[in-house]
Amino acid sequence: MLNNTVIVRCKACRTLNRLPLDKLSSHPVCGQCSAALEVPREPINVTAASYDQQVRDWPEVVLAEFWAKWCGYCRAIEPFVNVLAMKRAGRLKIIRVDVDAERVLAGRFTIKATPTFILYRNGKQLARFDGAPAQHSELEHWIDRTLQQQSPAG
Ligand SMILES: [Zn+2]
Repeated sequence: MLNNTVIVRCKACRTLNRLPLDKLSSHPVCGQCSAALEVPREPINVTAASYDQQVRDWPEVVLAEFWAKWCGYCRAIEPFVNVLAMKRAGRLKIIRVDVDAERVLAGRFTIKATPTFILYRNGKQLARFDGAPAQHSELEHWIDRTLQQQSPAG
């Protein structure tokens, strides 16, 4: 297991770079072209135009959150999701979709409840969680459980 390293794709030359987790905060650069490697530490707002690329371009785990401005559950869980993005920077990338602004995208995933969470690894959908978890920590447990059930090779 290589739990102490992450793989980050360079946006400039698309090379995959393996980085030690403790190097993430020291402005890592691409080994191939020396461009700065971006390691998101907060949720990224995505649109229909960027969704697939955001999912594909991150070789580790991606959590997509479909949310709405008027959704109280979404507002309630937002600080927890933000902390998760920071705590798991380099391993977990969180992307957010505003279902009112992105109706086509919400339709594509048949979003019936907000929030809805979809978990990906290597661009492949692993699981989804429809609706708000009763406890915020349940979301994190669901992520860990899902990843444990998937063999790292699969
Ligand atoms: Zn590069």
